[in-house]
Amino acid sequence: MVLDTVSGMGMRDNARAELIPGLLRETRGPGGLTRKRVARAAARLGVPDVAAAEAATFYPAFTAPRARWQIRLCKSLSCHLEEGRAVYAALRKAQKWAAAREAPGSARFVIMNADQGEPWTFKDHHLLEHHAGRAIEGLLIACHAVGTGRAYIYLRHDYDNLRRALERELRQAMAAGDGGAPEVSLWTAPGGYICGEESALIASMMGRRAEPRPRPPFPAQAGLHGLPTVINNVETLANVPAIIEHGAEWFRVNFRKLFCVSGDVKRRGVYEAAPGITLRELVFGNAGGIRRAGRKFKMAIVGGLSGQVWGAADLDAPLTHANFGNGAVMVLDESRGAMEVALNAAEFFREECCGACAPCRQGTGTVETLLKEVRTGKKRAKALEQLARVSRVMRDASLCGLGQTATRVLEGLRAKFPAEWGARP
Ligand code: SF4
Repeated sequence: MVLDTVSGMGMRDNARAELIPGLLRETRGPGGLTRKRVARAAARLGVPDVAAAEAATFYPAFTAPRARWQIRLCKSLSCHLEEGRAVYAALRKAQKWAAAREAPGSARFVIMNADQGEPWTFKDHHLLEHHAGRAIEGLLIACHAVGTGRAYIYLRHDYDNLRRALERELRQAMAAGDGGAPEVSLWTAPGGYICGEESALIASMMGRRAEPRPRPPFPAQAGLHGLPTVINNVETLANVPAIIEHGAEWFRVNFRKLFCVSGDVKRRGVYEAAPGITLRELVFGNAGGIRRAGRKFKMAIVGGLSGQVWGAADLDAPLTHANFGNGAVMVLDESRGAMEVALNAAEFFREECCGACAPCRQGTGTVETLLKEVRTGKKRAKALEQLARVSRVMRDASLCGLGQTATRVLEGLRAKFPAEWGARP
C-alpha cells in the first residue's frame, strides 16, 4: 500500500502525472506559487515550462500566478473551429464496473472522487470525517469487483484536515486484510468545479488542464493513462458495503440520501433522509426553518447550482431520485432577488468554465454581460431575448455538463419569478 501523494503514483514513466503534486508542493513555499517556482518544478520533473505554466494558471489551488498570467495551449480541432459536441450516455455504477472489468488487459484503476467542487455540497467531507471506514471498504470492494490492485482517493486540496484520518483508516483496512489488498494512494486534487467531470478529473491526474473530452471512449474503457478506470463518488462507495451485506432489495427499501442544506436556514448541515421527504420537512423540520425572524421562505435551489429552482408553492413536493441530484439544497429567504441569484450563478459558471469549447467559453461570458445589461435597464427586452437564445445554444452545443446546464437555474428563476425576471435586483 502507498499513502504518499507523489511518489506513490508509481508512474515514473509519465512525468506529467507528477506535475500537479509537484506544483502543490511549491505552492506551500512563502509567497505562494511564483513563476520561478513553476519553472523550478518543471525543470525538476523534466516537463516543458509551458506545460507547467498551463497547469499552474488553470487550477484554483494555484491562485498566485492565476491572478497575474494565464496560459492555454490550443490543441484540439474544436479549439480552433470554436465548436464542439459530445454524445453522452449515462453509465450506472454497476455498468461502469462491468465495463472496466471486461475491458482488455490486466491493468486498470478505481478512483474515489472526493473533490466535491459543487457549490453548497459538503456531504463528502462529512462522510470522510465520520464514516471514512465505510467509504474505504466500498473502494476496496470496487477494486475487487473490477479486478484491480490499484486505486486512488482524489482528495480535494482544502480537505487536508482529513488526510491523517484517511491514512489511519487505510492502514487499518490493510491490516485487516490478508496481504492481497489493493494499493491505495491519496491524490491531492488541485480544485475546480470541472474536476467533477470524469474525463477532466483524469486529465488533471495526468498533469494536464482539467478539460473534458468527448466520449466514447468512456473512462471505464480508456481512462487514467489510457487504461480502464472506474470513478465513483464518496457517497456511492460508502453505500456499497451495505448493499453487499444486506442485498439490493434491502438497500432499495432502506436507502437514505444525504442532503446538504445551506443558506438562510437556522441549522445548516448534512441530513440523512429517505427519498420522498418533502422540501418543507427538510427545511422547516431538519434545518429549523428560516434563520432571520420575520422573513419568509422564497426559494430553494435543489441539486446544486445547475439544479432546479423550487418556490414556496413547491414546499410540499417530495424530493426523489428524479429531482434531488447531488442532494444540495440552498435555501433563500424573501430578501434575495431572483436577478441577484441569477447573476451570482452566471459569474460562477463564467469563472469555472474550462474554455475548451466555444459555446460555453463564449456563452458563459455573454450570459453574464447580458444579465448586467438587464440590471441596468438598458435595452432590457433585447438582452432578455438574446439571453434565451444563448442559453439554448449552450444547452445544445456545449461539450460537457457544465455548459449544458449552466443556465438551468436562470431558466428556473425566470419560470418561478416572472415578475422579477428582468427587474433590478
Ligand atoms: S462545456 Fe464549458 S466546461 Fe465543458 S468542456 Fe466546454 S468550455 Fe469546458
